[in-house]
Amino acid sequence: MVEFTRNKRCGQTSSKTVGSVSIRRAGNRIVCPRCGNDWHFYEIAEDVTLTTKYVQNADGSFTPQFDDSRILGEVKFFCGECKADLTRFHNRFVEMLF
Ligand SMILES: [Zn+2]
Repeated sequence: MVEFTRNKRCGQTSSKTVGSVSIRRAGNRIVCPRCGNDWHFYEIAEDVTLTTKYVQNADGSFTPQFDDSRILGEVKFFCGECKADLTRFHNRFVEMLF
């Protein structure tokens, strides 16, 4: 279930940026303490198990029915510019995902 919201977030990133210009300077933005970057970030999930269920069609082809992913390891959060480990901001990052 986690992966479904992640996919949704990726698809909406660009449109969300357009709509939130006025509140962008609200003061609770995450800023990299090392390089000052406050635009580009990435996260890495370790030990992810992906499960995909398929139905085999009459002609022998397969159609995916549903995807599930479980993150068994740690999720880390990094600055997209200087690669600093910002995992301590990850909770806030998750709260600010829309
Ligand atoms: Zn940085």
